[in-house]
Order: sequence, then structure tokens, then C-alpha cells
Amino acid sequence: MSAVAELHQRWEMLPAREQPDWRDHPELSRIRAELRSREPLVTESEIAAARAGIAKVAAGEALLLQAGDCAESFAESGPEHTAAKVAALTGLSDLLSLSTGRPVMRFARMAGQYAKPRSSPTEMVGGVEMPTFRGHIVNAPEADPAARAADPERLLLAYAHSSRVLAAMPDGPWVSHEALLLDYEGPQVRPGATGDLLLASTHLPWIGERTRQADHAHVAMLAAVANPVACKVGPTASPESVVDLCARLDPDRRPGRLTLIARMGAGRVAEALPPIARAVRQAGHPVVWLSDPMHGNTVRAKSGEKTRHLDSMIAEAVLFRVSLERLGLHPGGLHLEVAAADVTECVGGNVPGEDALRRRYESLCDPRLNPSQARELITSVF
Ligand code: PEP
Ligand code: MN
Repeated sequence: MSAVAELHQRWEMLPAREQPDWRDHPELSRIRAELRSREPLVTESEIAAARAGIAKVAAGEALLLQAGDCAESFAESGPEHTAAKVAALTGLSDLLSLSTGRPVMRFARMAGQYAKPRSSPTEMVGGVEMPTFRGHIVNAPEADPAARAADPERLLLAYAHSSRVLAAMPDGPWVSHEALLLDYEGPQVRPGATGDLLLASTHLPWIGERTRQADHAHVAMLAAVANPVACKVGPTASPESVVDLCARLDPDRRPGRLTLIARMGAGRVAEALPPIARAVRQAGHPVVWLSDPMHGNTVRAKSGEKTRHLDSMIAEAVLFRVSLERLGLHPGGLHLEVAAADVTECVGGNVPGEDALRRRYESLCDPRLNPSQARELITSVF
């Protein structure tokens, strides 16, 4: 058995949360084999350069801005959409650079951000129970039980759309997504020229809050690849559990290898982050710390939509920055959900109240900042 096949087996034997229920689908092994034979979406030299750039952030010489949709849409992989998203990210990173006087590494939540973890496998819509939407890589968002059926052919569509997005950003920022679906990511793990295993689906994969169990498949898979990797850290993580994750994901303590993304909520971060950051430093891991001030601050509007308030997001990110600075650590930057268009999904800034949400609420999943709100956040925090 080749080294790659062995490693696949090593993590595929492990438990994994948030996977679609398509294990017994007759086409799954053919689809996986097809994915395995596809061209890498990103190159080894790009991955190495991304890692070297993140090492500069770890050293405190630069900042990092990771931003994009919560869930990308297959309908928005064309060159105009891609150009608009890249321009929005570039504008925000230039602003961050201007307000801090430091270089900013840009990572887009793009070209593969198609899989979503969900708090419940089913939901009731108009009195009908149906599977929840899990991202375009799994099912369709329409409120119809047939559209919501999980379809593994979508793995190949996700590859095709990612490839289309990348083709439209030749000089582009680096790409990143949550490495959630093992049936998409696993077949794209392959040996590079140096013999190291690489995840060829993206430059910077991350592990989400719901799949960061240290002895489960997602952590084992990203532990096996040489990409820079990231992991979300929520408010209930213990310092010991995060040090355990660091030991697995960054055993060699290499700057640029591991980014931790704190997403704790404005009310929790000042208490929860310092003991974790101290324990990680004590264990010798030169991680980059980013603030995701979105996912710990999601609330329901009175009308039922998920939303987030800009003042809570600013509060969390400021407390993140101050907490790390008090420890003498470098606040490495931000992880944001931002649209390129002037959407009205979060409240604050140019969306004065919940009544304004219905003007342009388009997100496939979580509520995104519009560019003006994102500018306000960045300049209020850094
Ligand atoms: C996300 O980034 O869209 C997400 C689901 O985040 P988390 O894993 O932090 O909940
Ligand atoms: Mn999200």
C-alpha cells in the first residue's frame, strides 16, 4: 500500500462529525477516484509561499486578513463575481495596512468554501421536515426535500467551480476554506515534489469549531499535510485541549504552520482567551492568533433571520487585541464574513436597525458584513 493510501486510511478510520449521509451511495467511490485524478487546484510553491507569509505574521512583522462569504454559491463562480470579491478583499486589506502601517497577508474564503456544518440535520419549513442545507457541495438550498437530498456528484461540481474561481484570480490572494468534507479533501491529499503530503484543494485549510476533536478525522487529516493550517477555537475550549491540538497540528513548532482563530463572543473572549493563549505560548507553539468576531455573536432578529450586531463584533475584536497585547502577544488579524455587495445582513453602520435587514438579505448561510460595515470594524479595532 502506498504511503498516501495508508494515511488516508489512518484518518478515514477515525470518527468524523458533520459528514453527509452518503456513505453507501453507489457512485461515491467512482467520484472519489475521479477527484483523486484531477489536477491540483493550488501548487506546492504557492503553499510554501503562503506558509512563509504567515510566518511573518507569527513573527509580528505583518497582519493577516481572511475574509469572504460564509458559504460560496455555485452560481457565483464566474469571473465578474470573483473579480468583485477579490476587489473587496483587497480594499479591506489595504485599509488594514494603512491603519496599522504594516503589510497585510490576504486570504480569501473562496474557491472551495462550499461545505457548512449545521446545528441540526433537519429543519421544518412550512410544516414540512427536510434536511438542512449543508452547502452547495452537498445539497441545494431550496426549501424542498428533493433539493435537500445529499448528492455526492456535487463533489465534482465543487471542484469545477473552485477551479473556475481560481482561474479568474491569477494574481490573487491566497485561498482558504473549512476542510469539512472528508470525501472532498481526502482525495486531494497527495505527495508533493519533496515527498511531503499536500492538500491540493486550497492553500490554507481550517478546521471548524464543530470538528476540532483532537482524536477525530479532521485533525488527523490536517496533521498529515504540509500546508499552513488553521483551527477555530470557541469559548468552551480548555487550555489543555488547545495545547493538545497544537501538539498534533504543529509538533515541530514551526512559525507559519498553525493559525488559531478565536471565535468566542464579545461576552466571553476577555475571560476565555488569555488562559489559552498563555498555555499555547508556554508549550512553545509560535501560532498566529486571529479574531473571528462573527461566529460567537450570532443572534436571531425579531423577524427570524440570523443576524449579528456590528458593535458586538467590534467589542469582541477589540477585547481580543487588548487581551493578547497585555500578554505581550501579537494580535495577528481578523477572520471575517464579508460580501462584496452592499448587503443588509448584519445590523450597524449603514444598516441602522433590524427593519433594514430585509432590504438585501442574500446570504446562503450566516449573515455577512457589507464592505462599509467591514471598514468600520477594521478601523475601530486596529
Ligand atoms: C464558519 O466559519 O462559517 C463557521 C461555521 O465557523 P465556526 O466553525 O467557527 O462555527
Ligand atoms: Mn459562517
